[in-house]
Parts: sequence; structure tokens; C-alpha cells
Amino acid sequence: MTLTVVGSINIDHVIRLAQFPRPGETLTGSDYQIVPGGKGANQAVAAARSGAQTRFIACVGDDALAKPLVEGFAADGINTEAIASIRGVNTGVALIQVNAEGENTISLAAGANGRLTPEQLQHHGAGLACKQLLLQLEIPLETNIAAATQAKAHGATVVLNPAPAQALPDALLSLVDMITPNETEAERLTGMAVHDDMGAAQAAAMLHAKGIHTVIITLGARGVWLSEHGQPGQLIPGFKVNAVDTTAAGDTFNGALLAALQQGQPLMTAVRFAQAAAALSVTRHGAQTSIPYLADIQALLD
Ligand code: ATP
Repeated sequence: MTLTVVGSINIDHVIRLAQFPRPGETLTGSDYQIVPGGKGANQAVAAARSGAQTRFIACVGDDALAKPLVEGFAADGINTEAIASIRGVNTGVALIQVNAEGENTISLAAGANGRLTPEQLQHHGAGLACKQLLLQLEIPLETNIAAATQAKAHGATVVLNPAPAQALPDALLSLVDMITPNETEAERLTGMAVHDDMGAAQAAAMLHAKGIHTVIITLGARGVWLSEHGQPGQLIPGFKVNAVDTTAAGDTFNGALLAALQQGQPLMTAVRFAQAAAALSVTRHGAQTSIPYLADIQALLD
């Protein structure tokens, strides 16, 4: 298996409201949906729908929603053998409120994602004999370090999407070959504000100094800042689309990027492919529901 994603699975409970309730206040929303989410799951789905051979190492709880979730991943062609069911805990949960402006607030209960420990990873050590490893930050940090260490020992390329935003130790960053922060995450990692090309270039330089060869800072509708160590960075504009919901744009970008790289595409071509996939995702509502399939992405690129 060439791409292994290690990461989170969440069940997203989404309520749409005119405005967010204040502390102590109760407000009735207009719409409620339960949708599959979690950064690890979204990225695995995006990779598989983009045509990548994908294995997903993750944990679910023993609740009723876990089984259909895992069946959904398998239906997308993901190898789910290394998704463990953990007794006595819930599957990860995200409570998401979306207001009339399309802004959201998100509360997470890690549940089974918190049980994806380095020990748990050992059960699936074979999955880390991969060509590419894709990580995010919704599972314990020590698990990401253990996964990256093992995958590197097999000669894998380690890609980190450092989301949600947090400062990270060199123990993890030193294992990373490619990093894909958004503007907020880049600022949290480097202390550099990423408001313009100069800020992006400075943030990228600081990440290169940590030993990371490829830095891709995603800039929303503007596109991405692409920087390879030792070469000048450049802005690669995104696709112009009518955005209705940016949920999972970053996840779609990461999964699609890895799929294109797995096909042996040059980095610049892979970034363009990933931006096309992410642009399609913002034209649709939801997280996994908005992630496009290969044929749609190719149609946008043609
Ligand atoms: P999210 O947290 O919403 O999933 P993110 O903050 O991780 O996203 P962004 O930088 O917002 O990531 O978006 C990732 C990529 O998605 C961008 O680099 C771009 O290619 C594409 N994208 C995002 N928003 C738009 C948009 N409005 N129009 C076209 N492409 C977009």
C-alpha cells in the first residue's frame, strides 16, 4: 500500500443558527445534520476519491454510528483493516454551529481518537511500511511522532497537515518532508504573520530551517504559497469558483495532493490538481459530502 493516512475520525453534528448563542443562552437552529468528518478521515476519503491506493489507520468507538462510518470508507475504496474499534469509548465527536454568515464554532470530544496511542499503532505496524505517510493533529502527538519515525525507517515521504493550529516540537518537525499549513497554522508554527507573499516566504524559510524540504502554505481563495528548500517560493493561484462552504477545503487539498504525487506527477502539477479538487469542494456543502471524485477534478482541469 503506497499511501497511509494516520488520523482522526469524527461524527460531525451540525446545527445552523441565525447567530451563535451567548453563554447561558439557548437558541433554536433551522437545520440539524449528522455527517462524517475528522481531518484524518476527510483526507483519506479525498485521497481515495482522487484515485490513490489508501490505507487508513484510526480508531472508532463501539457506538452505533461507527460501523456505517467504516463501511463508508470501504465503499470509497479505502483499506480499513487498520481501523480499530475501542470498547467503552465514543467515536470522536464534533459539535459544529454555523451562523448566518457561514462562520462556525467547533467543540471536539476526541473519544476513540485519543486512544490511537503509539501502542495501538504497533498493532498496525505493517501499515507504516508505505511510500507516503499523511498526518494531521487530531490524535496524540506522540502517536504522530511514532508513526513518522516508523514510516521514515521504511523510506517513506512524511507529509504533515499541522491542523488544528498549534505549536509543535522539533521532535516531530524534524521528521517531516512536506508541510501544508494554512495561514493561521503557519503563523502558530513560526510566529510570522502570513498576510502577504513576504510573510509567506519568511514563514516558509523558518520551516525549511527546521529541516522541512517542501512547504505549501494554503491561502484560501488566493491559492497556495509553494516553497522548496533552496529555491525561491511562488504564489500558485487557485481556481475561481462560486464558494458556498469551505469546510474540508484544506483536507481535500491534502488528500488530492498525495494522490497526484502517488501517480508520480511533478509537484507543480500535483498542486494544481489538489487546488482543482479543493475548489470543487468549496462549491458543495459539508465535509466528506463535498469531496469530489477523480472524474470531476479532471473535468475542471481539462
Ligand atoms: P478548511 O479549514 O476550511 O478546510 P483550510 O484553512 O485548511 O481550509 P484553505 O487555505 O482555506 O485551507 O483552503 C485550501 C485550498 O482550498 C486553497 O489553497 C485553495 O486551493 C482551495 N480553496 C479554498 N477556498 C477557496 C475558494 N473560495 N475558491 C477557490 N479555491 C479555494
